[in-house]
Amino acid sequence: MNILVCVKQVPDTTEIKIDPVKNTLIREGVPAIVNPFDGYALEAAARIKDKNPDTRIVVLSMGPEQAKAALKECLAIAADKAYLVSGREFGGSDTLATSYILSETIKKVEEMEGIKFDAIFCGKQAIDGDTAQVGPEIAEHLDYPQVTYGLEAEVDGDTVKVKKEVEEGVEIIAVKTPCLVTFTKPAWDPRYPTIKRKMAANRADIPTIAPADIINIDLARCGLNGSPTKVKKTFVPQKKTGGVKIKEGTNEESAKKLFGMLSDASII
Ligand code: FAD
Repeated sequence: MNILVCVKQVPDTTEIKIDPVKNTLIREGVPAIVNPFDGYALEAAARIKDKNPDTRIVVLSMGPEQAKAALKECLAIAADKAYLVSGREFGGSDTLATSYILSETIKKVEEMEGIKFDAIFCGKQAIDGDTAQVGPEIAEHLDYPQVTYGLEAEVDGDTVKVKKEVEEGVEIIAVKTPCLVTFTKPAWDPRYPTIKRKMAANRADIPTIAPADIINIDLARCGLNGSPTKVKKTFVPQKKTGGVKIKEGTNEESAKKLFGMLSDASII
């Protein structure tokens, strides 16, 4: 079983503040972390490897050179190999361009590794972009079946059985490989890296794949120019006040008071 996990390095949003003048995120000094949902995807792959030790887990990230820190963390936890895809031509990519670049890079990694991936695992969403579009879009680009909101996955021959979160509880969905699964927060916590794996990860060589290395990529579909999404405006929503609570002696008295207030404000 060969699994590729897509990992995004994200700013720790619990530390994020908004610039009150420019209305943009203040990223300076904000620690970068592995997107938590990608940690669940990696743990799901690691659990498959626990049961099937010949499983190979490869992690892939698109981002600047600093994203290698996130990949090293994944190597320390459970990944066997990591790749970064990076280049100026990819800057300004929206989700459609990002998923296109990742899907073309997956084919390149398969070529470099000399294997085919049976499953692509992603997080449900990135905690900074929050769109939850990249996983399903990669599945579309590769023409793979997909299961979203995975909690756990197990392999049975050429089938991946996914326990999937739904509003009423859980569903078990079986998909044939090759497939794509996105993972959400399960009941368990991902494992911690061991000291030995941490030291090996620090020494690991992480190849950087540049746009020129991906021979078949159409650069017109990458970067800002290849991105159909246009951000017209960003703003910080006004803080809502607590509202007015009307609590008279009885419901009838409360309704009467509300009617009076709405009438005084010329709303009714
Ligand atoms: P989601 O769709 O919520 O992520 C789902 C899952 O997909 C993740 O859990 C992960 O498994 C996988 N995934 C997502 N992104 C990556 C990645 N990069 N590498 C590996 N796996 C991944 N962002 C920039 O960083 N630089 C820019 O210059 C930039 N310019 C943009 C310009 C425009 C016009 C727009 C609309 C967006 C831009 N963005 C930029 C944001 C960028 O498009 C998104 O961050 C990116 O497409 C991922 O979307 P998301 O964060 O919503 O991920």
